[in-house]
Amino acid sequence: MSVNTELIHPPLTVLSDDERLFRDSVYQFADREIRPHVRAMDDEAKIPRDLINKLFDLGVMGIEIPEGLGGGGARFFHSVLAVEALSRVDPSIGVLVDVQNTLVINAFLKWGHDEMKRRYLPKMAASAIGAYALSEAGSGSDAFAMATRASERGDDWSISGRKLWITNGNEADLFIVFANINPEAGYRGITAFIVERGTPGFTVGKKEDKLGIRASSTCELILEDCRVPRENVLGEVGKGYKIAIETLNEGRIGIGAQMVGLARGAWEYAAKYAQERKQFGKAIAENQGIQFQIAQMATEIEAARLMVYNAARMKDAGVPFVKEAAMTKLFASQVAERVTSLAIEIYGGYGFTKDYPVEKYWRDSKIGKIYEGTSNMQLQTIAKLVMGK
Ligand SMILES: Cc1cc2nc3c(=O)[nH]c(=O)nc-3n(C[C@H](O)[C@H](O)[C@H](O)COP(=O)(O)OP(=O)(O)OC[C@H]3O[C@@H](n4cnc5c(N)ncnc54)[C@H](O)[C@@H]3O)c2cc1C
Repeated sequence: MSVNTELIHPPLTVLSDDERLFRDSVYQFADREIRPHVRAMDDEAKIPRDLINKLFDLGVMGIEIPEGLGGGGARFFHSVLAVEALSRVDPSIGVLVDVQNTLVINAFLKWGHDEMKRRYLPKMAASAIGAYALSEAGSGSDAFAMATRASERGDDWSISGRKLWITNGNEADLFIVFANINPEAGYRGITAFIVERGTPGFTVGKKEDKLGIRASSTCELILEDCRVPRENVLGEVGKGYKIAIETLNEGRIGIGAQMVGLARGAWEYAAKYAQERKQFGKAIAENQGIQFQIAQMATEIEAARLMVYNAARMKDAGVPFVKEAAMTKLFASQVAERVTSLAIEIYGGYGFTKDYPVEKYWRDSKIGKIYEGTSNMQLQTIAKLVMGK
């Protein structure tokens, strides 16, 4: 394909050479190394460590970490390409990589002081997994109503409380934990701390048994007088709310990419099956009714992908993208649920069984409307921004 490079605004889906090479390497890896294990990982609710090691070797666990610190030195857009390509095969792997890059590394890069970056980022590029611990049993959408507290004890901070629903909880080596140091100041007391696995007073609790993205671990964290040194405060004391808001704004684009990737994965299976399955003496894809369904699905995926790419490129360009990120996650998760549901219908009864891959995509799609802000929370953000409130 020849692209007119004199265009001032290249089409969103036209990738630069390095973006294309990177994306293709992830696509090939996903088909070769992940696809054979998808069913077993879902059944066993576990991602094997050797597969995680291969993700590190591939370079998708430290995409934006500067090359000088052992990472890929790439941009946010590359993270989005990786999450999309992995989620096409397994959205659980997609979210592992998404949390690592778009939430944890992103927060370190933006808010970490130099010594913190030197201490943690080379490890994260090589073998350490990150998790992002904001939610609690009593505070989900109203995240800043958290009950976890931190107080000064000599040269340390002591953190006590419980976090719920923490992605990568079972595998993570380090956790960004949000706690309030001064509840009377409300959200202005919220502070982000780096807690390493193995710190006394820190335990990973129950792992949830989930509907979808079952291989991705979702865990409770228990902190009981967990002591971290002063230098483990990420950003400034009392500015954790800003870190949470800003990283989640960016993370939402990654979830959009996860939803686009998984919708595409289900669509590919459905489009192929429709051309193989015969009823009334011909392939079901020869019926215009089925063709229209496949065309509608492809159109919705394309629209959602354009939103993801646009929001990611806006973020990299340094222009405001909060509205676009919220719209992207809202819409991409709707598309994912519709497309995966239709994929099951195209498979008929077979689609309803675990012998075929599409029911899993549908189960996996459901989370898109829930984490990193529910659909209602996205609508609230969008409404505020479009109505100028
Ligand atoms: C698999 C999984 C992985 C997760 N990973 C992480 C993670 O890594 N880190 C982390 O910190 N959290 C994580 N979460 C938590 C997730 O972000 C929360 O579940 C989510 O924000 C919703 O909070 P909640 O579950 O308490 O629901 P609630 O906030 O109780 O919401 C329940 C319902 O009420 C609606 N609602 C609430 N308030 C309003 C309102 N003002 N107006 C209209 N509707 C409203 C919501 O939209 C929703 O439909 C994860 C959750 C899951 C299930």
